[in-house]
Amino acid sequence: MIETRRQFHHHPEIAWTEFLTTQTIVNRVRDLGFKTVVGKALFDTEHALGREPKVIEEAMQRSLKLGMNPQLLKELEGYTGCMAIWETGRPGPVTALRFDIDCVNVEENHDATNEANREGFDSECSGLMHACGHDAHAAMGLAVAHWIHDNADTLKGTIKLIFQPAEEGTKGAAGIAYSKNLDDVDYLVGGHIGVAAKLHEVAVIRSGFLATTKMNVTFTGVPAHAGAAAELGRNALMAACSAAMQIMGIARHGQGDTSVNIGTISAGEGRNVVPVHAKMELEVRGKNNEINRYMQETAERMIKGSAESYGVQYKIDIMGMATDIHSDEDLSDILEAEAKEVPTVQKVFDITSCTGSEDCSLLMQTVQKHGGKATFFYYGCNHHGHHKGNFEIQDTESMPEGFEIFVRMLQRLNSN
Ligand SMILES: [Zn+2]
Repeated sequence: MIETRRQFHHHPEIAWTEFLTTQTIVNRVRDLGFKTVVGKALFDTEHALGREPKVIEEAMQRSLKLGMNPQLLKELEGYTGCMAIWETGRPGPVTALRFDIDCVNVEENHDATNEANREGFDSECSGLMHACGHDAHAAMGLAVAHWIHDNADTLKGTIKLIFQPAEEGTKGAAGIAYSKNLDDVDYLVGGHIGVAAKLHEVAVIRSGFLATTKMNVTFTGVPAHAGAAAELGRNALMAACSAAMQIMGIARHGQGDTSVNIGTISAGEGRNVVPVHAKMELEVRGKNNEINRYMQETAERMIKGSAESYGVQYKIDIMGMATDIHSDEDLSDILEAEAKEVPTVQKVFDITSCTGSEDCSLLMQTVQKHGGKATFFYYGCNHHGHHKGNFEIQDTESMPEGFEIFVRMLQRLNSN
């Protein structure tokens, strides 16, 4: 598990480009005797959000050069991730465990203060790093697969291991949530390393996370000579700026937390041309779906109004989404009790509100809508801050604890 995590860490892959990571996963679980769902079958492709065709195509070509099996690449149909299914042949519940697998756009610290550098497994891909620990998640999923194989006689029902791509930017889960792959799931357990849990701590997320929508907006105007005939132009740059100023000032919601960020604006062609193109990347968040919808709809109205003011066209693409989490109490109680049984775990605590976003929430929501139960937890590490170049997880100490909790949940829910 540790060695595999370090391999993933050495070669991180960003959202929707996790082809080599997926190859490792698919080969391992197939060797162990799991059935697999890969490619388009894993998703409702309409809801596979934030996919950038050029980035994906380049990643596929690069993967081939780096040893990707062409046949498997064809089988993946341009989609990363994998669901590994173990059928015990004995009646029992369907339990799904979720592990995300993508990296972050962060440059790793390549010096001796970084544990990955000291051990020689720091990122070989410039500008990319597993700075959120999803390398550990993926490797842990494979270790759980191995355990299932070795302990198959002790299990009943069906176990689905979801290796989800593209969690960063909350892009990947919606496609799986809207697919048919979770229809039969009775229990779903998701986890994340670090965050609010220090090394040897476990946090049970009873409720929390913010609902969020990620949007790309493009404005298209009309070019004109900026001096000689500015009146004939339609200014996309100004429409974007106007929208940005308004959106950052959306009135706050009285019923709960909100946040908004205009992350990027790029616009214009040249100093003396009325700008024709503008692109804006933004996100809104809210305490729950309703409050997030208020933020999203208000932002959309401001985008529309700004486009109208400046006489330009606009287009909004939804690039990612997540909802808030409400874990089921009884399943969370089981998780809490099991975490307390892990000998090296020193502290187990509840979290009832947190302000990040996590798209496992969409998978949980789907399972809960069908009458299934879901919960989410953190297994700790001393990380110095997620999405930073000095992020680290003390893998030899932290990962066995996360692994043991997942395994204990299977023993509780699917014991023969
Ligand atoms: Zn993460």
